[in-house]
Amino acid sequence: MENGELLDKVALVTGAGRGIGKAVALELARAGADLFLVARTQSQLEAVAEEIRALGRRAEIAVADVALADEVAKAVDQALHIFEHVDILVNNAGITRDTLIMRMKDEDWDSVINTNLRSAFLFARACAKGMMRRRFGRIINISSVVGLMGNAGQCNYAASKAGIIGLTKSLARELASRGITANAVAPGFITTDMTDKLADNSALKDKIPIGAPGSVQDVANAVRFLASVRSGYITGQVLNVDGGMAM
Ligand code: NAD
Repeated sequence: MENGELLDKVALVTGAGRGIGKAVALELARAGADLFLVARTQSQLEAVAEEIRALGRRAEIAVADVALADEVAKAVDQALHIFEHVDILVNNAGITRDTLIMRMKDEDWDSVINTNLRSAFLFARACAKGMMRRRFGRIINISSVVGLMGNAGQCNYAASKAGIIGLTKSLARELASRGITANAVAPGFITTDMTDKLADNSALKDKIPIGAPGSVQDVANAVRFLASVRSGYITGQVLNVDGGMAM
């Protein structure tokens, strides 16, 4: 795909301060989009915004907790005030609070569901109106292979990531006639801050047919593909970026 294919498009990426979200934001900027970056840590957001401006694209930031409805509404209002439209929404912000079910506290469940799943609903609802008016939109939700396969010690996380898939397919059906697609990307084992400490786990690598963890760039490439104007006939899909792990 050539650079410049997303010129005139505005992308809102959550969890854009580091890891997969940062790689996605930079890749969409390389494709020509302007970026509105949302996460919790201002200094990280500012650093990513600087990198995007160095690529010649506009970048603005909002510090927000994506689990909170009023903060999401404020962030989207801010994005619309600055850019007038949001064409591409990437719901990427996510957390884990891993423990076995017998030890899982209500708070472990609620914080993971609210941060990973409720946030995607809140942002999709807030952005869909403008996308419908402009008859163009790309909603890309970051799920996980764990949402397809389950994982011991991750009941809360797996439920949130499976929920993302149901949300994505329902959005796809509701919004298809308005030129809006909704797809999920399901990363497998990707080396980031979240997983760095596991990177040398050879037992885990044995489960991956390609034999190695993926990179944040692998995920960003998939998001860029789904964000493209030319991916308009692909909706309601889950694209695994997992080296063959969950096939
Ligand atoms: P990360 O921890 O490196 O980054 C997460 C980002 O989300 C950070 O910028 C953080 O500030 C932001 N965030 C978290 N909670 C937030 C909140 N309440 N409000 C606002 N921002 C918040 O994680 P990552 O590895 O880059 O993962 C990104 C996404 O990819 C997550 O949804 C994760 O579940 C998913 N994923 C990651 C992997 C992997 O192997 N790393 C695999 C499958 C899925």
